Amino acid sequence: MPKRTDRNRDVIPYWTVPNALRTRQAVETSAADLGDVRFERWMNCSTHAVVALPQTSDTLEPYCPHCCSVFGPNGQILNTISGQ
Ligand SMILES: [Zn+2]
Repeated sequence: MPKRTDRNRDVIPYWTVPNALRTRQAVETSAADLGDVRFERWMNCSTHAVVALPQTSDTLEPYCPHCCSVFGPNGQILNTISGQ
């Protein structure tokens, strides 16, 4: 794995949370906790392959575990990114 240089504060690493436990709310909370880091991650994600992403356990919406974006049926981001 490449060295992680982003400024994680008290964010729970997404890889410690089983996908089955990722509710929509949990993803949005992680997104909020990321703050400005989220925008940097989103930029690094480039285009999301939405069909390949895991789904939230409750609403079954695809989400990106890296930038904590939740996607709607048309591939739009449902939880907006601050700084955008
Ligand atoms: Zn992403």
